[in-house]
Amino acid sequence: MSFISLGLSEYLVTALTELGYQQPTPIQQKAIPATLEGHDVLAAAETGSGKTAGFSLPILQRLLTVAPSEDKRKGSNQVFALVLVPTRELAVQIEEAVRQYARHFPRKLKTLAVYGGVAINPQMQGMRGGCDVLVATPGRLIDLIERNAVKLNTVNTLVLDEADRMLDLGFSDELRTILDLLPQQRQNLLFSATFPQDVRALIDNLLVNPVEIEIQQESTIPEQLVQTAIEVDRDSRTALLKHLLEQESWTQVLVFVASKRTATNVENKLFKSGIAAETLHGDMSQLERNQALKNFKNGDSRILIATDLAARGIDIPNLPCVLNYDLPRSPADYVHRIGRTARAGEEGLALSFVDHESDAHFKLIEKRNKIKVIRESVAGFERSPEVPQDVLAKKGQAPVKGKRKSKKDKLREAAAAAARTQDIWGKK
Ligand code: AMP
Repeated sequence: MSFISLGLSEYLVTALTELGYQQPTPIQQKAIPATLEGHDVLAAAETGSGKTAGFSLPILQRLLTVAPSEDKRKGSNQVFALVLVPTRELAVQIEEAVRQYARHFPRKLKTLAVYGGVAINPQMQGMRGGCDVLVATPGRLIDLIERNAVKLNTVNTLVLDEADRMLDLGFSDELRTILDLLPQQRQNLLFSATFPQDVRALIDNLLVNPVEIEIQQESTIPEQLVQTAIEVDRDSRTALLKHLLEQESWTQVLVFVASKRTATNVENKLFKSGIAAETLHGDMSQLERNQALKNFKNGDSRILIATDLAARGIDIPNLPCVLNYDLPRSPADYVHRIGRTARAGEEGLALSFVDHESDAHFKLIEKRNKIKVIRESVAGFERSPEVPQDVLAKKGQAPVKGKRKSKKDKLREAAAAAARTQDIWGKK
């Protein structure tokens, strides 16, 4: 099955080909046609399934073909598609992905990510003249609405991404406020990895005759792939990486990091120690990416530092080692990353740096993938026994100095507690 056969325009397919997407993932095969047909969609999907493209490609296709009578935007500050997400990282990531998919759009497409924790003014300015695709966290979106910077009365398509996480984080009050401001006539797409009672209540309240999509994630880890977690302090990771690169006789290593910035930082630090590495991430031009990948595949470069966005789908023959400098956000991506090594029956090693900050997340990765990874430490780089204060605070085991709960935080917590004990949604 091809992207063209799903009904997507050449403008989009060219971008997908450049991004290395050869064919639609199972969720895309189902979500794209259903969304294009105008149905509401309910999908059980995790990060790593390709769900972002699953909802954004049909939205972009719709924007290409929308009749003026269907697009109700007339005034300023109005929005065509609204994507609600639980976290700032996800907002940034999704907006970036949409921009990549629309890089050959025949007109200038306006996309924007809005989220809390940063100045609101640039976001207000960004909304002037309206927005084709707005990706938002609920709290900040409400702040923007209250300041008249965003109007939701023309939203054509609403996406709720990671609905379970959104409710877990206590966003149910904000969600209700937002849903009340949307026009009655609209398309709704809801994605969630799990379906606890509060998510089911939301689904009943929101979706009309949805097309339901469920995809089984396959996670196959070859037997000859050895996985090890190396406990280390966060600030010692680069030094440990240097040490391993010098000590071990790996012919090549693929190092995964969480962001383009970390990729460049690590590359620079290695360079200062006389170790040459290349990077591969979504902000590089296609030409640069192709070159970096070619050098690595040819064996001309020994170390490639890559982000998930760029590294998906790459196939490097005889790669002996994958190293997670940063852990992947999604458990499914862990399997995908380590699967770059030990291909076609060869031996392979997958190392993951686990610091105090990422310890709980690594346990989640193990749990979700039903694996138990041996933990080790490297002499001279042992992780300090004390857990940092801010990590304890996140677990609710210590107060964060100087940080009082805001009114909004308290409201969210109260709503989350209410959602856990009763069905707070009710039918409209
Ligand atoms: P998501 O589940 O949307 O977070 O996507 C996970 C990763 O898969 C991202 O790095 C995408 O760039 C990548 N991806 C999405 N669709 C495809 C596809 N059809 N082929 C190859 N990679 C894809």
